[in-house]
Amino acid sequence: MKKEAIVKTGEKPGRGKYCCTNCHTCVSLDSEDKLPPCPKCTNSEFTKRN
Ligand SMILES: [Zn+2]
Repeated sequence: MKKEAIVKTGEKPGRGKYCCTNCHTCVSLDSEDKLPPCPKCTNSEFTKRN
């Protein structure tokens, strides 16, 4: 089984949808966007959603 990579606030992980590991709120990023803190709980760890 593949472990999900954690992406942190301030990184530029590329285009896609990233979901908060705490409250599961998702944000959509474009290729040059930086990952913001979670808009709901301010958590800084996300996983990429496929
Ligand atoms: Zn959150």
